[in-house]
Amino acid sequence: MCDDRMKITFKFRTKPTKTEEQWLFAELRHQKQLQNYMLQMRNQMWEYGSVSVSMYDQIDHLKDLRAATSHYSEHPQDMQVSTIKRVNAAHEHFRRRCKERAEKKGYPKFRRSVRSLSWSLRKHKLKSGERVRQNPIRETGKRHNMLKVPKLGEVKIRQHRPFIGDPKEVTLKKTARGWYCFIVCEVPDSLKCVPKSACGVDVGTHDFLTTSEGEKVPNPRFYRHAERKLVKLHRDLSRKQYRSKRWYKAKDALAKQADIVACQRLDFIAKTAYKLFHHREFDAVVTEELKPSNMVKNRYLAKSISDASWGMFFDWCDWVAKRDGKHFQQVPPHNTSQTCSECCQRLRIKLKLSERVFHCRSCGFKLDRDHNAALNILHRAACALRGEVWDTILYETRNPLLQRACWS
Ligand SMILES: [Zn+2]
Repeated sequence: MCDDRMKITFKFRTKPTKTEEQWLFAELRHQKQLQNYMLQMRNQMWEYGSVSVSMYDQIDHLKDLRAATSHYSEHPQDMQVSTIKRVNAAHEHFRRRCKERAEKKGYPKFRRSVRSLSWSLRKHKLKSGERVRQNPIRETGKRHNMLKVPKLGEVKIRQHRPFIGDPKEVTLKKTARGWYCFIVCEVPDSLKCVPKSACGVDVGTHDFLTTSEGEKVPNPRFYRHAERKLVKLHRDLSRKQYRSKRWYKAKDALAKQADIVACQRLDFIAKTAYKLFHHREFDAVVTEELKPSNMVKNRYLAKSISDASWGMFFDWCDWVAKRDGKHFQQVPPHNTSQTCSECCQRLRIKLKLSERVFHCRSCGFKLDRDHNAALNILHRAACALRGEVWDTILYETRNPLLQRACWS
C-alpha cells in the first residue's frame, strides 16, 4: 500500500500458444540464472571486499553485460531490471529482520526455479506534452484481448473486466492451472465517509461470521469438502517414483486441486467482505483482533481455523474499507464470548465451544453465543471511539440510542 495512492491488482487469465509458452519458460530460466548471479555478486563482494552492492550498481552492471554479450541483450531489459529489484527487496527485508532482531533472519537463498516474470510500464510523451504510461493491453473487441509482452509480442488474455487507474506494473505467473497476468494499477485514495451505521462481526468455525444484527454466514469449509480428494492425490504422489514422469503428473494433479480450494476460498472471502459493506450498507465494520498464527497452535482446531482464513478476511475488509472510503476497526478479543451483552457480567465458568447459546446467570438473558459476542465487539469499539476503557460496569454503552450517537 502506497502512502498517498492506493494500488489495486487485477488478475486475468492468459492463454499463450505452445510456442509462446516455450519462450516464456526459457525466459523464466534466464531470469532465475540472473537472479542467482546477482545474489552471488552481492555475497562475494561482501565476503571478499566488505563492499555492499546497491541496486543501482547492479543495474549499471547489467547495462555493461548487455553491451558485451548477446546472451543478455536478447532478453527484455525491463524484466531483468525487475529481477534485480526483487533481489534488492529480499536483501532489504533481511536487513530489516536483522534490525528487529528476529529469530529467523532469512538470508536470501539461491533459487531452483522462478515462477513469474514482471516488468514495469514506461511512460511515453503525448503530443500535448503529457507523460502517460502505455496501456499493456490491446483491445480487439472480441472474446480475447491481447497482452503486450516485451520481445515476445502479443499474448491472448481473457480480460473479464476493465481495469481502473494508472497501470504501473505487469506480472505473468505460471500456476498449476495455467498462466495468469497481474496488472498493478494506482488509484487516488478515496475520502473517508462519516460513519452513520456500524456493525460488529464475530468470526468462528461453526458459522463463518455473525453480525451484531444477528445475521449469520455459514462456514463453507472448502478444505474439509476437498479433503478426501486431497488425501487421495497425496497418496498417489507418494506411491510414484521420485521425479519420474508419473510423479510429475501426480504432483500437477495435486497442485491443481490445492489451487481450486485456494481460489474458492478467495472468491468467498472477497464477496463476503464486499457484501458486508455494500449490501448491508454498513459504514463501519468492527471485528476482533485475532492472531490466527497463534491460534493454529491448538492442534485440535488447527485445520478448521486455517480453513476459515480469518486473517485473509480481515485483510480484505480493511482493503475494501480503504478503497470505498469506509471504516474498519479491530478491538482486543478477550472475554467477548464470556460476557453478557445485556448486563455486562462475566461468566464464572468458561463457555465450552459446543455450547451454542449464551445464558447469563445473573440477569437470565439468553442469546445465540456468536450474536452476543458480536454485540460485545460493537460495544467495545463504541467505548474505544470515545476514549473509554471497555468495562463490565459501563451501562450507557448498552443503550442503543447512545451507541448510535457515538458513531455519528
Ligand atoms: Zn446478563
